[in-house]
Amino acid sequence: FALANLYSLTSIAYPAISCGANHFPPQEAAQVAIESVRQYSCNVKDVRFVLFERPIYDVFVKEWTNYSQKINQAANTTTTTTGERDRFRIASQSSLVSIRNCILCDEQQLPANREHLCTKCSESTRSMIFDKFLQRLCIAAEISFHELEKACKLLKPILNYYPLLYTPIQKFDQSIHPRDSAAEYYVQNQCNKEFRNTMPVAIVGDGNCFYNTFLKLAGAGTTTEASAVTSIELRARNIVELVLRINEYKTKYEPLETILDKFEDYVRKEMVHDTHFAAIWDLLSIPTVLNIDVISVYPKVNGDSDLHYQMLNVKRFSPLTSNETINDKQSKVDAPKTVRDVKLLFSHCNKPLKLGTVIQNWMPNHFVPLLNL
Ligand SMILES: [Zn+2]
Repeated sequence: FALANLYSLTSIAYPAISCGANHFPPQEAAQVAIESVRQYSCNVKDVRFVLFERPIYDVFVKEWTNYSQKINQAANTTTTTTGERDRFRIASQSSLVSIRNCILCDEQQLPANREHLCTKCSESTRSMIFDKFLQRLCIAAEISFHELEKACKLLKPILNYYPLLYTPIQKFDQSIHPRDSAAEYYVQNQCNKEFRNTMPVAIVGDGNCFYNTFLKLAGAGTTTEASAVTSIELRARNIVELVLRINEYKTKYEPLETILDKFEDYVRKEMVHDTHFAAIWDLLSIPTVLNIDVISVYPKVNGDSDLHYQMLNVKRFSPLTSNETINDKQSKVDAPKTVRDVKLLFSHCNKPLKLGTVIQNWMPNHFVPLLNL
């Protein structure tokens, strides 16, 4: 503003200073910015806040709204001068957000006939859409859980544009399925007998093995664009599902509390990042996302006292039902019955060392699906 006044400028653009790489808190930045406009703007008639990221934009809108309410209140109690009131033509929140931007890129304005996605975004590929989607969740998660929640709500309508119909294959086919010999060892030696007749399928261990497991089983009849569904999409869908219904999940899975990470930390620090390992949380919501049952199989390597073994071996995880779907049950009775189970093995990339050594605290680091032979 000192320079603007020196050069008699009448308009300036104002970014969220230091909120990017320097991680200055956006709320404080907004307060400083608004206060400096109030105190130092002098001849500047037009100040535009140029805010690149949606969460930061939202913080500025909130602070500006708070500030405008304060000023308007003060104006009503006649403590401010007419001059000050005229100089601060306060925009109400509704006029600020009436510029409708694409909810995904937040860059392009929406054409009048579109509700969520700009022309440019709706023309990009499914996988590009979800790359951007997860990126947005990631940025929001950096700020706070509340911001992540808002981002999930905002972006959720996009999921409806890309229906996901998933039919998991059940049978092992040696001509197309590579087997996982380490996992085979666990199935044959440390899992319940009922699984001896199944074969673990090799899955790439790139940090996305949990999501890759479900992609690997995407059979014919899965959504028309089956090949375009990525692990990033499944991760993004799973995050939205968990974040927006977290209280329902916490209630339903209260007995698992001892083996669950604190959700708010886990989702912000791990789950929103592509290729970060999945945790038990991911397993709780994927049945709802894919409308399947997941039967988890946990090898008894650590013996009977292992809590994970007790809670995760031969457990069926089903979609979360809401009141709505319970009422729908009657009409679903006649639907053709297809097996919609996925058997998921908690495995390890390596076989345990032999020679009868007692393995202390064996921890799985890999997921693979089991298919019927
Ligand atoms: Zn867009």
